[in-house]
Amino acid sequence: MTEESATLLQAGGQNAIAVTLGLLGDEWTLLILRHAHLGVRRYQDWRDQLPISDAVLTGRLGRLTGHGLLTRDAYRQRPVRYEYRLTPRGLAVWPVLVSIWGWEFRWVAGQRDELPWMRHRSCGRNSEPVMICDGCGERTGQRDVRSVLGPSGEAARSIPAAATRRRSTSGDGGAAGLFPETTALIGNRWSVALLGAAFFGVHRFGEFQQRLGAPPAMVADRLRTFCALGVLRAAGQDYRLTAKGRAFFPVVMTLIDWGQRWYAAPEGPALVSVHRSCGREFSPRLVCAECGERLVERDVLVVDGVRAAP
Ligand SMILES: [Zn+2]
Ligand SMILES: [Zn+2]
Repeated sequence: MTEESATLLQAGGQNAIAVTLGLLGDEWTLLILRHAHLGVRRYQDWRDQLPISDAVLTGRLGRLTGHGLLTRDAYRQRPVRYEYRLTPRGLAVWPVLVSIWGWEFRWVAGQRDELPWMRHRSCGRNSEPVMICDGCGERTGQRDVRSVLGPSGEAARSIPAAATRRRSTSGDGGAAGLFPETTALIGNRWSVALLGAAFFGVHRFGEFQQRLGAPPAMVADRLRTFCALGVLRAAGQDYRLTAKGRAFFPVVMTLIDWGQRWYAAPEGPALVSVHRSCGREFSPRLVCAECGERLVERDVLVVDGVRAAP
């Protein structure tokens, strides 16, 4: 794998978090990437394996190619047919995909029967990902990490542009419905901003409103949705993350880690996170829940859970 450099963002513009969420906070994009990671290269194979329309698939492949996650090469002329391959930037999304799978598998009702299972080739067991601190190797959860805003981290710069979101959530086929709860949390600019604020320690209604700069009705609507999903628990005007909500933390941290690796604002990072117990800058790494070994893509098999249960 060749070393590639990050895309330099505009000074004062969207930061790495906004760009990442604008791109990956989209269910179709995540599903297309997931299939690419499972070996899909050709347009027709995505069409056959996903309930996706031509317009949506063409649009998403164009975005993924434009953002440098896929390359496109003609494998046939007259008519011309293309093959899409993951670049290092596209391959590096894998921890995000595994984290989403892990959260849906464990926390979303019914998904254990719907989703494939993950088998770790090294230990031979069916497993799940666990997030550790790359600096010290300790298992790390939401309460173990302290995050502060970096020089490009103002809230307004961290929220994906509205135009991008609107384009990808309506008028082009809507959602696939395969990861409905993940999509409810990160597939909309206000939802993801609210989730980020909750992880950041915000819990009063007024604070959410202030942090997001959103209309009260919008904030109230999202808080209600999050409570209905069991991600937040309300007591009056106070909203706390539940265990299910905190368990989504690896998805957010792997997303931010990917974003800040591949997109750089000239002012510096959007978010700086520190692992409280070791004091080092926090980088998320995933290990196998069964054997503790670091998870790498080639060691993980996707198996049909219902028939392959141990
Ligand atoms: Zn540590
Ligand atoms: Zn293992």
